Amino acid sequence: MQTTKVLLATDLGFCSGVRRAVLETERSLAHHSIVASTDALLHNVREMSRLRSLGLRSLETLSREQLAETTVVLPAHGSTSEERAILARSVPRVVDLTCPIVNAARQRVEELVGAGLPVLIVGDGDHRETRYLMEGAGDSLVGVVGSVDDMEHLLRLPSRTGLVCQTTQTRENRDSILGWLAVHHVDVVETSTLCPEVLRRQSSIAGLAAACSAVLVLGDASSANTRRSVLVASRHCSRAFLVSDAASVRSLGLVRGDTIGIASGTSCPDYAIRDALDVLRESLGRLMVSKEPQPRD
Ligand code: SF4
Repeated sequence: MQTTKVLLATDLGFCSGVRRAVLETERSLAHHSIVASTDALLHNVREMSRLRSLGLRSLETLSREQLAETTVVLPAHGSTSEERAILARSVPRVVDLTCPIVNAARQRVEELVGAGLPVLIVGDGDHRETRYLMEGAGDSLVGVVGSVDDMEHLLRLPSRTGLVCQTTQTRENRDSILGWLAVHHVDVVETSTLCPEVLRRQSSIAGLAAACSAVLVLGDASSANTRRSVLVASRHCSRAFLVSDAASVRSLGLVRGDTIGIASGTSCPDYAIRDALDVLRESLGRLMVSKEPQPRD
């Protein structure tokens, strides 16, 4: 009988920022009577419902009396000053779980503004982290671009600008925008703010996909870094799938003899990886599971 090979990406499961947010939320739930989050604490429906089952509430559902004894946990992706100020007036305790890497990007924005430079931000305009960076830029914001296609639509383009990327952008996106700016003779001041953990995952997934006949990227469609990982995988393997529910693996047309790569977004819990492996074993029989070799920088 043919054996199915499974190659696991070098980095799987939560990134350090999300892991910290989950652990601190569990700690708060153990110590305080009412704990709530502002919106999705992390982009994973299953993990959010696990935290809800432990008692995590949605802030919007609480009464004025409940707010008076509520601890609010702020997500890893950053929160604007306005949001923090409103919370400080309404609840007794706010636990700031902003990832240090996101805070470093915000600090970079403020340094550029402090140096008198306009700031161009590369990111998803409606993402919480991008709004946090935009707030730091204030009136110095040149604009927010998602990709090089947006560059032509900027209302103004100074001859010299600072550039800051949302931490989960791809290296390719950053490089193509830097290339566009160079062609248009814009002097750019930039220090990379891309998250090293995400970069490592992106490098890993490209190599993984090239070595596999199918790739499963575990995580939610609501997670931007998960969607980007699928995009990177699909450049190297024609069968790249986003898997948010392990049961859906059965309908992907995987067969014995496939070499299946498994990667994950940064908000994907470890149990989702175990579940996907269980479903693969049930449908394809014995698996030969190994870890993908460490990618070289
Ligand atoms: S992806 Fe990187 S920057 Fe974002 S929360 Fe995780 S460790 Fe922090």
